[in-house]
Amino acid sequence: MYIISGCLLGENCRYNGGNNYIDWIKEFSKKHNYISVCPEVDGGLEIPRPPAEITEGRVINCEGTDVTDAFLRGTEIVWEKIVRKSQELGEEIEGAILKANSPSCGSGKIYDGTFSRKTIDGDGFLAAFLKEKGIKVMSELEINLED
Ligand code: SF4
Repeated sequence: MYIISGCLLGENCRYNGGNNYIDWIKEFSKKHNYISVCPEVDGGLEIPRPPAEITEGRVINCEGTDVTDAFLRGTEIVWEKIVRKSQELGEEIEGAILKANSPSCGSGKIYDGTFSRKTIDGDGFLAAFLKEKGIKVMSELEINLED
């Protein structure tokens, strides 16, 4: 079973109400068991919502509001759903395909906190949590599993 960012599958859960649909990920999802996740929405943030980035370990949105608690809650709730689905399917978690650069889903690189589209080394909250659990986290930029 795979974990996939909902926005990559075309769900309109991005901060701006849109998605990050990618064809090959949708095709991949048709051939594998997966769970679609959006930790920001599960954490109680609305669609649309102000964009947020990580600064010194906290998540601050572009209006200056600290939304770290929602990110932490979202990670917890998503993890509970992942474990439940894995148990229902009786399948191990094979990996996660998460949206690059996001303060939740970004893996290896995240936006730098200045809202200028610049990235720095780091992981989003969910990506970091999954890595701590020993789960392989990939972004849509790093790998095309259909190749
Ligand atoms: S990057 Fe992650 S948190 Fe952001 S919209 Fe996509 S699934 Fe939700």
